[in-house]
Amino acid sequence: MSAPLPEILHQLNADMREDPDWGAVAAYIPELGRIDPAQFGIAVATADGALHAAGDADTAFSVQSITKVFTLAIALGRAGDHLWKRVGREPSGRAFNSIVQLEAEGGRPRNPFINAGAIVVTDQVLTGCEPRETLGEIMQFVRTAASDDNIHINETVATSENVHGHRNYALAHFLASTGNLNNSPEKTLGTYFHHCAIEMSVKQLAMAGRFLIDSPQLPRMILTQRIRRLNALMMTCGHYDGSGDFAYRVGIPAKSGVGGGILAVVPGVASVAVWSPGLNRYGNSLKGTEAMARLARIMGWSVF
Ligand code: GLN
Repeated sequence: MSAPLPEILHQLNADMREDPDWGAVAAYIPELGRIDPAQFGIAVATADGALHAAGDADTAFSVQSITKVFTLAIALGRAGDHLWKRVGREPSGRAFNSIVQLEAEGGRPRNPFINAGAIVVTDQVLTGCEPRETLGEIMQFVRTAASDDNIHINETVATSENVHGHRNYALAHFLASTGNLNNSPEKTLGTYFHHCAIEMSVKQLAMAGRFLIDSPQLPRMILTQRIRRLNALMMTCGHYDGSGDFAYRVGIPAKSGVGGGILAVVPGVASVAVWSPGLNRYGNSLKGTEAMARLARIMGWSVF
């Protein structure tokens, strides 16, 4: 029998602060490069309505690629299976911002969570709308999921990424050259950088992740079948070329972001958000991954 969850989180927070290696922050977005890596927060929202947290759990951070889960949910709601003509569902085995695979495979990104795939998903959500409307829809989805209106986009981070986003521009222009972009690279990336720049604390993110738990106790935002599929994609592709390692060590579906956040789902049980801005070599949170591995082990949460 394990200790109560609040105690476990408290202990994890203390343990994570012992090792002096915090990893390296994502310097390619200068605004994120300024963040102190020595921070750690964790929150768990359970299907029965409880929220437990420890560490820097009220500090808002840049959720970055974690928003790809929310935009994918919206895109699938709009386009359904037609989306899969434009983007695949296989792990890429490459860095999240890799260019080479996109060219080799004719402009159809491997999956919706690598940057090229998320750019296509953003383009899909933008179709027929202006960026302001699309961002409004994404914000409304995230705020409703979290039951919290105090969630915002950090304009300074969005601008910082836009000014330095040469790789993403390369990906978007290549997608356009193959006919897999309906909107201009500027319009699509402007929207993409903005939704990546949404900020949440781990408490808010854990709350926002509840729609992926699939519990009859929670309000339903998307179809059950779609929840399963989002979880499958998070498990196989949510940590890029580190997805296999994450599945091996942690064993639950999860999505990471270069802001150092991870949103993980224990199907039927809980949504977990962890944040520590220092990253490992795959661009996933170093301490966040370790904390998730320990938590899943203590709680017996691996789906395997
Ligand atoms: N906005 C970031 C980028 O496009 C997101 C990457 C990430 O979080 N892995 O590079």
